[in-house]
Amino acid sequence: MTPRFAKLTPPAGEAIAYGPAGIRVPTRPIVPFIRGDGIGPEIWEATRAAVEAAVAQAYGDGRALVWFEVYAGAAAAAVYGPNVVLPDDSLAAIRHYKAAIKGPVETPVGGGIRSVNVALRQALDLYANVRPVRYLPGLPSPLKAPEKVDLVIFRENTEDVYAGIEWAAGSPEAQALIAHLNQHYLAGREPLSPEAAIGLKPMTRRACERLVRRAVAFALAAGYPSVTLVHKGNIMKFTEGGFVEWGYELARAEFGERTLTRAELTGALPSGKVLIKDRIADAMFQDLILHPEEHAVVATTNLNGDYLSDAAAALVGGLGFAAGANLGDELAVFEAVHGTAPDLACRDVANPSSLILTAYELLRHLGWTEAAELLLGALRTVIGKGWVTADVACWLPNVVPLSCSEFAASVVEEIRAAGA
Ligand code: NAD
Repeated sequence: MTPRFAKLTPPAGEAIAYGPAGIRVPTRPIVPFIRGDGIGPEIWEATRAAVEAAVAQAYGDGRALVWFEVYAGAAAAAVYGPNVVLPDDSLAAIRHYKAAIKGPVETPVGGGIRSVNVALRQALDLYANVRPVRYLPGLPSPLKAPEKVDLVIFRENTEDVYAGIEWAAGSPEAQALIAHLNQHYLAGREPLSPEAAIGLKPMTRRACERLVRRAVAFALAAGYPSVTLVHKGNIMKFTEGGFVEWGYELARAEFGERTLTRAELTGALPSGKVLIKDRIADAMFQDLILHPEEHAVVATTNLNGDYLSDAAAALVGGLGFAAGANLGDELAVFEAVHGTAPDLACRDVANPSSLILTAYELLRHLGWTEAAELLLGALRTVIGKGWVTADVACWLPNVVPLSCSEFAASVVEEIRAAGA
């Protein structure tokens, strides 16, 4: 049943649903969107135009996305009142309609919340942060062969430092905890200094398993050859070490017929199987630069994934070209990974590529593959011609930058040309 919203009126359309066979997408699905703050409205308009052109080109009148505006960040405070940065209306809409897309949002100072984005992921239990990293020819890259980068990074989205607790050095809580640990648990070992700041990073088997399950299922469905479990288990045996141990066990227990470990592999990987391997986080950063082709799907913990996904994006053009998805069992929020770039807002100069690539992931999630590939193909063509926004043009010789709206118009033109 459609929820009762305090300040929203849903448009006419249908809700995405889930059945025993998985996602069921109507021909006119209602998709909540958060325009975002700063450059959000500009890159959203650019993305909307490109997505609508791709869907129309692929399906004519047969299918359409029905957009439903919901709010978060500074824009939410303007509609719902000061300090309301993540209204219940927005959460209810995403819960009901299942898949949403968002631009970058600002967390206003004094909003009573550490980060709107983190709060949204936690409220909807979006436990997998997924960042595809692929190279679009024409983009500047520090690598000699950036086309070798083709990764999908699954980062645990609810625990580790996201659920971390810290106490400042010298605080009564830190001192009480240190005294307790020294007295009860560290007898015979070097005691903790009473001057230390203390941080805890909780990680459960359940959260690690569902993340790895999602990554292995994706690799099998999409035909990727391997899943690399990235961890720091050589130093943190029970949290990071737990992640990799539970990951291998999960793969064996639930995907045993279709996965192999390095120890089990003799010769070439048989078709239809996925190799499960692991890499210590620091070595993984080296691999990213020296042998990116050795990794396909990556499953990792929250903090490792934070560093790794931005570093991987930097190899193929930076955050301006990085798409993101936050996935739960049924709910999905697709988001541009960069921030609100307040320095560029209202100047029509921002790069909308991250949100366009994010919309590509949304279309793939819906199974609207034809529209998705038209959108990606057009973006690829436009960038290949050297038609880029100012953030990229400044790295390329003799390139005159396009505005955000000119870039969007070029993508739309290429979509129409591809279908003509
Ligand atoms: P930022 O990503 O907004 O900006 C960093 C730099 O990248 C700036 O120089 C900016 O001009 C540039 N940049 C970012 N996106 C660009 C684009 N599409 N085109 C061209 N250049 C672009 O990061 P920040 O300055 O640290 O944060 C600004 C605000 O964004 C803060 O309020 C922060 O909380 C918020 N933020 C939101 C998200 C999100 O919603 N997912 C993520 C990060 C930061």
